[in-house]
Amino acid sequence: MSPQNKILFAGDPHGDFRPLIEAVHQYKPEAVVLLGDYDLDMPLEIYLKDIVGLTQIWWIAGNHDFETPSKHRHLFNSALADKGLHLKVTEIAGLKIAGLGGTFLGRVWYPPEQPRWRNKQHYLHHQSATGMTLKYKCAIWHDEFETLRTLKADILVTHEAPGSHRHGFDVIGELGAAMGVKNIFHGHLHENYIGTVENNITVFGVADRAVADLMGNTLKSA
Ligand SMILES: [Zn+2]
Repeated sequence: MSPQNKILFAGDPHGDFRPLIEAVHQYKPEAVVLLGDYDLDMPLEIYLKDIVGLTQIWWIAGNHDFETPSKHRHLFNSALADKGLHLKVTEIAGLKIAGLGGTFLGRVWYPPEQPRWRNKQHYLHHQSATGMTLKYKCAIWHDEFETLRTLKADILVTHEAPGSHRHGFDVIGELGAAMGVKNIFHGHLHENYIGTVENNITVFGVADRAVADLMGNTLKSA
């Protein structure tokens, strides 16, 4: 196994995990990191049964994973539920990996605009109904983002893109810079590309159903 294959990154599967499964059998990575948008009709571990036990499986959620209660449940109540990387730094195959799942939502925070709510408690306090809809659960909340900024990591994985992509957000590059990361991997926009943002961070966009190595090389595509 070459060092750049010890962790592989999978772009939005949208229900098709075959390229990822093939890549695990071919390259035998220590770990795989899934970048969101699974569109699950069954629990995640059922799709990945051929590789569970062969490699560590880590993930962040995308906007599609909050579209319906069942898609949400098949991820967040799956046997892999505790492998989420959102809002923390996790040591994986010797590297510190930070995760930011979800997407920006105008009603919560749409940078560079100011956030609408200080935090989830602030929002819930102003609602008559109890609880938070899936749309709001998918949102990136400003206070949580700021807390993540205080941590250090080698790699940041996000569903939303940083400013390297025309549909990206500059605050994600700023987050990576504050955390001291060298690389950002992101999904969501269905495009394989390499870009640069602040602090000379190299950004790797990973297309839907594509699999990339640590150097951003595309090993599999749909
Ligand atoms: Zn998406």
